[in-house]
Amino acid sequence: MNCRFCNTPLSQVFLDLGAAPASNSFLKPEELNSPEAYYPLKLFVCPDCSLVQVEEVKSSTEIFSSEYVYFSSFSRSWLAHAKAYVESTLPRLGLGKDSLVMEIASNDGYLLQYVRAAGVPCLGIEPTASTAKAAREKGVESLEEFFGVALAERLKAEGRQADLIVGNNVLAHVPNINDFVGGLRIALKDGGLVNMEFPHLYRLVESAQFDTVYHEHFSYLSLSSVRRIFAAQGLAVFDVEELPTHGGSLRIHARREGDPKAAETERLHAVLRMEQAAGMLTPAYYQGFQERVERIKAELLGFLAEQTLARKKVAAYGAAAKGNTLLNFCGVKPGQVAFVCDASPHKQGLFLPGSRIPVLHPDAIREQKPDFVLILPWNIKDEIMSQLDCIRQWGGRFVVPIPSPEVI
Ligand SMILES: [Zn+2]
Repeated sequence: MNCRFCNTPLSQVFLDLGAAPASNSFLKPEELNSPEAYYPLKLFVCPDCSLVQVEEVKSSTEIFSSEYVYFSSFSRSWLAHAKAYVESTLPRLGLGKDSLVMEIASNDGYLLQYVRAAGVPCLGIEPTASTAKAAREKGVESLEEFFGVALAERLKAEGRQADLIVGNNVLAHVPNINDFVGGLRIALKDGGLVNMEFPHLYRLVESAQFDTVYHEHFSYLSLSSVRRIFAAQGLAVFDVEELPTHGGSLRIHARREGDPKAAETERLHAVLRMEQAAGMLTPAYYQGFQERVERIKAELLGFLAEQTLARKKVAAYGAAAKGNTLLNFCGVKPGQVAFVCDASPHKQGLFLPGSRIPVLHPDAIREQKPDFVLILPWNIKDEIMSQLDCIRQWGGRFVVPIPSPEVI
């Protein structure tokens, strides 16, 4: 396997999580008697450019099928994040009825609905049919396609270049990152701005967020590596914001090289200095992570074993990708975690891939009164704990698995 950015052969393993099914391949009840496909889940670090990456073992078209079940609008805090971004960015850039805002991986229109409401034309690009349909129902025009140079050239030929291109949690999910970033440059109007958000590799390592690793998450990004990838395609990353979302994300600002508005900011230099001081550009930084991850597994399994012996009931909340990575790496089964609740009706009635734990409506927590609720999407633990405060009535407690299992 070669680096997806610079093509250098890869051999240094950063993290090996064994084998797991694709994290969004939820099972229908009738599929429980069939075997599942497991794929190796291993991260490498490039010795030349330090890009951390998972080997692509499953084609993107197979992963992002029409039955893809991740709908962005089911997280209230994520919607609030999108709304705040739109409300501050459109006036700051002076965008109006003659502008175009393009979002890549626009999902169910969770963000562009606010752009549309502000009277600014927008275009969503979203390869999964089920979410694109939901976006259209909100009045958001959505092209059901993968983004890259070919699509960007076609849009340009149709006279559709963007004043603002937004991409949240997509850059890390594209198998051909060079083609994707090359497409951004073409899809951008002269003087246009690109904003992309992605989880910061620095936070992943600092807080042992190994459960953010899954097959569909191809690259694990530092600011240094993203700057290099963008520069290779003629885009200058000149500014960055640190955000609390997804356990610690970066929002980069990029413009075409040579754009007079692309003057580098002090906060860009501050994050670059932080990455350098941590040693992110050296191989040593990536050693020893596996050991920390094995420790979390041992602690979580120890906790679950104690509850089994004490005849306590453990349920989980949030059937998201990171939960599947955690449960499958730890080998957790329905005997240890009775069920997982999720607010999305698209997941209720299905079973988690690999662990085969049933996904139920959140009301199941009130009905079954578990002694512990394991919060799988720890990044929104405050939102979940306030929604499920009722468990205190029967002495229930919350468990957060990352950065190390803790009962709250
Ligand atoms: Zn490389």
